[in-house]
Amino acid sequence: MKNKEHTYSKNSPKVYIRTYGCQMNEYDSEIMAGLLENSGYHLTDNPAEAGVILLNTCYVREKVKHKIYSRLGELKKLKEEKPELILGLCGCLVQKEPEEVLQRAPYLDFILGTSNFYQLPEVLGQFFGDGVRGTKAKGSSHSTIVQVEEDRAIPEGMPKLRKRRFSAFVSVMRGCNNFCSYCNVPYVRGREVSRPRKDILREIEELAQKGYKEVTLLGQNVNSYGKGEKEKIDFADLLVLVNQVENLRRVRFTTSHPKDLSDKLIEKMAELDKVCEHLHLPVQSGSNKILSRMKRGYTREHYKNLVNKLRQAIPEIALTTDIIVGFPGEEEKDFQDTLELVETVGFDGAFTFCYSPLKGTEAVRLKERIPEKISGQRLRRLIELQQKILLRKNESLVGKEVEIMVEKISKKSSDELQGRTRTNKIVVFKGRKELIGNIISVKIVTPGCWALRGKVNSC
Ligand code: SAM
Ligand code: SF4
Repeated sequence: MKNKEHTYSKNSPKVYIRTYGCQMNEYDSEIMAGLLENSGYHLTDNPAEAGVILLNTCYVREKVKHKIYSRLGELKKLKEEKPELILGLCGCLVQKEPEEVLQRAPYLDFILGTSNFYQLPEVLGQFFGDGVRGTKAKGSSHSTIVQVEEDRAIPEGMPKLRKRRFSAFVSVMRGCNNFCSYCNVPYVRGREVSRPRKDILREIEELAQKGYKEVTLLGQNVNSYGKGEKEKIDFADLLVLVNQVENLRRVRFTTSHPKDLSDKLIEKMAELDKVCEHLHLPVQSGSNKILSRMKRGYTREHYKNLVNKLRQAIPEIALTTDIIVGFPGEEEKDFQDTLELVETVGFDGAFTFCYSPLKGTEAVRLKERIPEKISGQRLRRLIELQQKILLRKNESLVGKEVEIMVEKISKKSSDELQGRTRTNKIVVFKGRKELIGNIISVKIVTPGCWALRGKVNSC
């Protein structure tokens, strides 16, 4: 790749990357940061001192899109004051609607699609090495470099500049074949492609050698890992192999689709010592009518049955979920079904959203839109119920000894540390900085919704 030729270290501009969205986008940003560092660029956390500002975008809800355009408006002003500033946009928003991006933000210097992000050093090279080339954005005298292609294979072995020191994301697959009626992902990330197991294992082995203790395997639907590929391997088989990696202590994965969660996977989760007792299993709705309109491919009964199997196999498992309220046609009785399911399952956490109609998805054509006021009220009722459940669950942990991996200094107080239990709960406690990166035992002393408070015996 061309980036190897660039040696800018002294005069090259600093690059600021802001990531919107899920862990997949964070992972892509880590690759971009790694590629830039390898090409001699410096990364900065301060946009004011950057010569290049890049937004890596997501597009799961309209709200996020508004947020990105409003940030771009601010950056446009900054560029007017500082014309040499290079502005770039990449990720899901660009992949879904490149023409709209170019029309609304013709002042952008470059845009990169979800399969083109690794070309970033080459693109920057055109500004700082070979002079600017590009496609002229309609209605603008400015040229924007446009690299947006579909389903382009992403090369293996790219460098990554990881944000965290002991816990790392590892992509096992990209894309999604499910086409849930509300969702943009299959349109922006393309069809499912699993990464070869040897590449996944090599990446994890290298991480473990560098001192990483935990990995989170990423995919939009990890349960369909291996489907349609030459290699005969499924996600449960992959977990077995990852569990064997020496010096690795914890394995997590996300996201699991309820229609594809197999008995074999539940069995392996229970059996494999490094696989943590936590599962993110998005239910989206507790109403069969709405689940069918969402094209989720399972019923509330199936979901509850999975929860029973999981709890039988792994009694201490923590379950988290995603829920959308106000989906077209959702009546009060459907919403009551969601509340009932939430109460019965007793989730340890839920990401809750108001339905957002997205252009190009099937659900935008559905009638019976729910007024925003009603969706908003339902969202508040759901959050209130979930908070009560969570507090109740966390109270039951008081007095118990739990294993945590110490991650960092707490955001709220510099003399406290923050770690995570195997069940993915945050624990804050007083302790020495040297504990960061260690797996230790703490006693829970106070419950809380965002975090639990713990105490280390020796402190
Ligand atoms: N692959 C995951 C799954 O199958 O559940 C989720 C991926 S999506 C990036 C994350 C979450 O965003 C979804 O679980 C859903 O709850 C929410 N979401 C996606 N599209 C949405 C929309 N149009 N309106 C509101 N929430 C949405
Ligand atoms: Fe979107 Fe459904 Fe695929 Fe999840 S499974 S990424 S919600 S289409």
